[in-house]
Amino acid sequence: MEFSSKLLENAVYEISQLPGIGKRTALRLALHLLKQPEEQTSHLTSALGKLRSQIKFCSNCHNISDVALCEICANSKRDAAIICVVEDIRDVMAIENTGQFRGLYHVLGGKISPMECVGPQDLTIVSLVEKVKKGGVSELIFALSSTMEGDTTNFYIFKQLEGVTVKTSTIARGIAVGDELEYADEITLGRSILNRIPFENSMKA
Ligand SMILES: [Zn+2]
Repeated sequence: MEFSSKLLENAVYEISQLPGIGKRTALRLALHLLKQPEEQTSHLTSALGKLRSQIKFCSNCHNISDVALCEICANSKRDAAIICVVEDIRDVMAIENTGQFRGLYHVLGGKISPMECVGPQDLTIVSLVEKVKKGGVSELIFALSSTMEGDTTNFYIFKQLEGVTVKTSTIARGIAVGDELEYADEITLGRSILNRIPFENSMKA
């Protein structure tokens, strides 16, 4: 792609670094911004800048939050004895939308994936295990996507908790293996949380 402007070229390059955005789409977006009032671009860059510099992670569940303890963890009406283990904030949002879960979450920040060089130490597993060992947690619900990485992660955490008195269950999904949690519809997802099954039963013999 030949550019007549270095400024435009730089902007297109930066936008095209985002996932799923090729050079052509990046060019279309950059030209779109140029047609809009200048404030629009200022609002966009300021929102992104603030997101990056001011974002916090909840000290209890590691969910993205504007404050040290997220709204869900700070809510005394939620049941702190039941923890739903998820991969990221998108899963928290999906489960919250079902309105069927009144416990707390633990956001792992990913799944164990040797292919992508993600090991247990790259996730918040240690803090989860410590939290459960401290007591006060009666049940862990694994709600990772049913991919090989999701299963590996569930099993790793399950093994870390051997000898600890805590019920472990996994959400019973009516959706196909490999479907990501965030794409499941609310009713199916809500039902699968209510109809969760003991983790041991979910493991293949
Ligand atoms: Zn929290």
